[in-house]
Amino acid sequence: MLKRITKKCCFSLIASATAILGQSEVSTVKANQVVNLYSYRQPFLIKPFLDEFSKETGIKVNVVFAKKGMLQRLKAEGVNSPADAVLTVDISRLDALREAKLLQPIKSIVLERNIPSQYRHPDGLWFGLTIRARVIYAHKTRIKPGEVVSYEDLAKPHLKGRICSRSGKHAYNLSLLASIIADKGEKAATKWVLGVKNNLARRPQGNDRAQVKAIKEGVCDVSLGNTYYMGKMATNEKKPEQKIWAKSVKIVFPGQKDRGTHVNISGAAVTRHSKNKENTIKFLEFLSKKFAQKMYADQNFEYPVGTDVEWHPLVASWGRFKADEINLNEISKYRGVAAKIMDRVDFDG
Ligand code: FE
Repeated sequence: MLKRITKKCCFSLIASATAILGQSEVSTVKANQVVNLYSYRQPFLIKPFLDEFSKETGIKVNVVFAKKGMLQRLKAEGVNSPADAVLTVDISRLDALREAKLLQPIKSIVLERNIPSQYRHPDGLWFGLTIRARVIYAHKTRIKPGEVVSYEDLAKPHLKGRICSRSGKHAYNLSLLASIIADKGEKAATKWVLGVKNNLARRPQGNDRAQVKAIKEGVCDVSLGNTYYMGKMATNEKKPEQKIWAKSVKIVFPGQKDRGTHVNISGAAVTRHSKNKENTIKFLEFLSKKFAQKMYADQNFEYPVGTDVEWHPLVASWGRFKADEINLNEISKYRGVAAKIMDRVDFDG
């Protein structure tokens, strides 16, 4: 039996688990009874619905935790890769896998019915499973109602020295910038990035949560962050100081008067060299259905892609919002341009 990897990822762990998958597991278990998964999310977090899938179908899901280096790993393994599917986050990562020709197109009426078209690749190369919104975290009192309502506001002079940001080269910020390029063009997007850079309170550093900590500490008043971090901070029993950070800010859904808030996905895709394609499609279809959708979204305080799935009460408490309806496949086309702009303006410098 393959031991599920439950520790934090590192390259050697992936390598050893892959070796087990490649040499013993796949050869001793009938090919049609398994799905081998490379997952960005830790196995213990997704175990409840993997168990349910196995109970329903008799198909066993083996999970290799691969938070970093998933693309390099799949590339290096080539045709011998044991992976049938990947679970990862952000359109930029899914698109990078597509670009490297590591995915295969899937046709499924169930997936097409359950996942709105803007959250899946037109040829079925990847499918969104949960939605995260990239919002503005604003200090509850230092930012007055109406003072910051759009991404464009972040580039305006009244926020001089009041913004904290993680690296401009992080996938989350690149995808947001790509959505602005798609809407307004490269020139306007460059001007926007420069405006935001000029308003920074400090050099870009840390992750989304670190910016909220800085707001709590008075370093700055606003930052960009993904919605689910609010849920993770507000419920963090292991690091209760994060509850205090979360309490210092309110969520502003930008762009409600125009194109809407930029949203991204966590998603799944079938690998090009999958040896268990039919079972893998069944697995993806299972993930798109109400039961798994609810569990998968709730577990990380995300929004289900399924429109008939109820939101977690904490997520619902942040309010309904209008999301940018652009197809994520369109956004992914500007991934490279976005990275160039961040370099050109030396956002992190
Ligand atoms: Fe994240």
